[in-house]
Amino acid sequence: MPKLFAAPRPGQKSPSWILFDTDTAYLVDRYGRRLCNEHASRYAGCALECFRQKIDGAFVVFDEAVFSGPNRSRWGYEARLKNGGLFKGETIAEAAQRAGVSPEGLEKTLQTIARDAASGRGDSQFGRRDSLFRALKGPYYVSTPSSKVRFKTEGGLEVNPDFNVLRAADDAPIPGLYAAGAVCGSISARLCDVIASGLIVGKTAAAGLRKARS
Ligand SMILES: Cc1cc2nc3c(=O)[nH]c(=O)nc-3n(C[C@H](O)[C@H](O)[C@H](O)COP(=O)(O)OP(=O)(O)OC[C@H]3O[C@@H](n4cnc5c(N)ncnc54)[C@H](O)[C@@H]3O)c2cc1C
Repeated sequence: MPKLFAAPRPGQKSPSWILFDTDTAYLVDRYGRRLCNEHASRYAGCALECFRQKIDGAFVVFDEAVFSGPNRSRWGYEARLKNGGLFKGETIAEAAQRAGVSPEGLEKTLQTIARDAASGRGDSQFGRRDSLFRALKGPYYVSTPSSKVRFKTEGGLEVNPDFNVLRAADDAPIPGLYAAGAVCGSISARLCDVIASGLIVGKTAAAGLRKARS
């Protein structure tokens, strides 16, 4: 199974879409239309949405409070602005025009967000209810476009909760064969899963070996 990420065109810079985890920002296409619930979808879900909707290049939009907020150095906003990965505008239209996004489309999108946030009922388009969902207030920032890319492939051996490998034909555990970490396709391979599976399988495999020897 491929895992998706987003990257700008070669030679360009753009902010990482992981910023949707921590900052108020929206993802739009070149017509200024949002694609999904950015916060719940996270970077991989946003990239998947680009894939589904055949969007080749989506733009991150946020405001001054984010640009100079607590995560400014983590996401390198200042550097992105300097090296052309971000465009600033006193108005939405100005920032949109500089980045190559439809000014009318983006104005409409941000007006809808502002209306939804003021109503207290949350995002009418994609159901965002998280605390980062709010209206943007100028100056505004729009990024260069990033597109979906595949950054790794996941998959492997199917295991049970003891990390005993299952036989493909009938899902029966194969005695004495265990899989942990990235080789194990039943878990998403992240470092925490890798370590947890190793801690579990170590005990289980050792107990199985002791039993087999006694
Ligand atoms: C681009 C990328 C970004 C990632 N980002 C993150 C992230 O931000 N956060 C996160 O938690 N995880 C991330 N991961 C996932 C994480 O790195 C892996 O899940 C983790 O490293 C897997 O650990 P592992 O010990 O199971 O396997 P590996 O780290 O792959 O270790 C397997 C080892 O076995 C060795 N080996 C292979 N065959 C043999 C052989 N026949 N004999 C002897 N040795 C052999 C290999 O050389 C290797 O050293 C990322 C992975 C990639 C590829």
